Amino acid sequence: MKTLIRNIGVLASGDIRQPLLDADSLVLRDGVIAGIGRGLDEDADTVVDARGTTVMPGLIDSHVHPVFGDFTPRQRTVDFIDSAMNGGVTTAISAGEVHLPGRPKDVVGLKALAIVAAKAYANFRPGGVKVEAGAPILELGLTEADFAEMAAAGVKLVGEIGLGSVRTGEDAAPMVRWAKQHGMTVTIHTGGPSIAGSNPITAEIVLEARPHVVGHINGGTTSMSPAEIERLVATDMALEIVQCGNARTALHTLRTALDAGATGRIIVGNDAPSGTGVIPLGVLRTLSLLAGLGGMAPAEAVACATGNTARVYELDTGVIAVGRAADLVICDAPTGSVAREALGALTAGDLPGISMVFIDGRIIIGRSRNTPPAARAAEVVKGAGPSAGAH
Ligand SMILES: [Zn+2]
Repeated sequence: MKTLIRNIGVLASGDIRQPLLDADSLVLRDGVIAGIGRGLDEDADTVVDARGTTVMPGLIDSHVHPVFGDFTPRQRTVDFIDSAMNGGVTTAISAGEVHLPGRPKDVVGLKALAIVAAKAYANFRPGGVKVEAGAPILELGLTEADFAEMAAAGVKLVGEIGLGSVRTGEDAAPMVRWAKQHGMTVTIHTGGPSIAGSNPITAEIVLEARPHVVGHINGGTTSMSPAEIERLVATDMALEIVQCGNARTALHTLRTALDAGATGRIIVGNDAPSGTGVIPLGVLRTLSLLAGLGGMAPAEAVACATGNTARVYELDTGVIAVGRAADLVICDAPTGSVAREALGALTAGDLPGISMVFIDGRIIIGRSRNTPPAARAAEVVKGAGPSAGAH
């Protein structure tokens, strides 16, 4: 199956080293990006006219707390992942399936949960979204053999360290080493506890544990101090800024990273469902925070929620490049905005209006039911249109 997207006004690459591409057409073949250029006019089954608007990679939410399917017991909400897809999210990464009622904390139980979550989401994409799940919460008593067993069964993540009984650097460090040896990507809770009964995680603990990702560096929901954030920016770890955190320290993280030339390590997530709620437009809102208040170039902000995250988690999405998965968002400034196009809208503090979402080269929706309306909407001019009932 071949799709041509033509008349693209702005093409945001997702690659922070070259965040804008000089091209106005994309060719998608069998689910991947097969061509990028100017004035491409290939024979295709489906032709989409982007009407001069913006195309960017589908957003990657680096911090989600799913359980099973598209229901969250935390906020008694159904279809929250489908709602996030309507906010441009095409991949969601679990930071732990912590909201399972009666979540087991013994070693056999936590391994079983991680394995089932990984396998169940590998078989099921809510709203079409690729959910990377199966993120065990570390408890005392885990051995290297347990990590080997989980990895062999398809577990590729470790959920936020600190939500279980492993909450010191000394206890976490050997487990992080084992997880890394078995190919897992590891994140850690930082800052004050999100619920009563757990403990704060300080920069000192993170430095001793050495995960790949400093989870919600701006708090989930209570932030570390600015001085601790500065110590962690001065490492090689990924720096995760979340919507359900502290906006002031999000901007402090950004400024520190800009000064250090470390924006290539910033990734963006919601940290939802959580006590803060379910925020379908949370990743877009965070991009608007970084560009609108933080002064970051908007195409670089987009890269923080796409290519940067893909690199940390070794995903084949998040960048507009030949051979990458064709997960795409077409968007524009919303009707009524002071801005004329989507990236300008982020800089103005507005949220872009999404008019089409692709996953693996397939059109999943036309106009989003959650963003404000795009001033100019992409349109299918040949072939099959967006599925009915999308909006
Ligand atoms: Zn957390």
